[in-house]
Amino acid sequence: MDCLFCKIIAGEIPSNKVYEDDFVLAFHDIAPQAPTHVLVIPKAHIPSMAAVNEENAEIVSKVLSAVSKVAKELGLEENGYRVVSNCGEYAGQTVHHLHFHILGGKQLDLKMC
Ligand code: 5GP
Ligand code: ZN
Repeated sequence: MDCLFCKIIAGEIPSNKVYEDDFVLAFHDIAPQAPTHVLVIPKAHIPSMAAVNEENAEIVSKVLSAVSKVAKELGLEENGYRVVSNCGEYAGQTVHHLHFHILGGKQLDLKMC
C-alpha cells in the first residue's frame, strides 16, 4: 500500500521515534508547528477519524492512551498541550493514515479555524 506512515512503521522511511509498542508508533513531525510536535499513529492502517468504528475502537483507544503517555513523558502535562486529528479535505488532512498531532511547549493560539 502506498501510504507514507505505513512505510514509516515498516522502517522503509526513517523517523525520530519517541514511543513504540505492538499497536502504536509515535515520532516527531518532520515540520514542527510548535516546540514539541509529535505524531501518534496506529500500526494498523486506518485512513482517518471517518473510518473509526466499533471494530477498530480498541486500537484507537490504545493510540489515545499512548497520546497521554507520550505527552507525559515529553513533559507536556504540567503546562498542557493540544491534540489534533485532521479528517478529510476541509481539515487539510495530507496523510491518509489516522494520526493524532500532539502540540505543546508554548502557549498555543486559541484560534481553532
Ligand atoms: P496532516 O496534515 O495529514 O494532519 O498531518 C500530516 C503530518 O505529517 C504533517 O504535520 C507533516 O509535517 C507530517 N509529515 C509528512 N511527511 C512526513 C515524514 O516523512 N516524516 C515525518 N516525521 N512527518 C511527516
Ligand atoms: Zn498507512
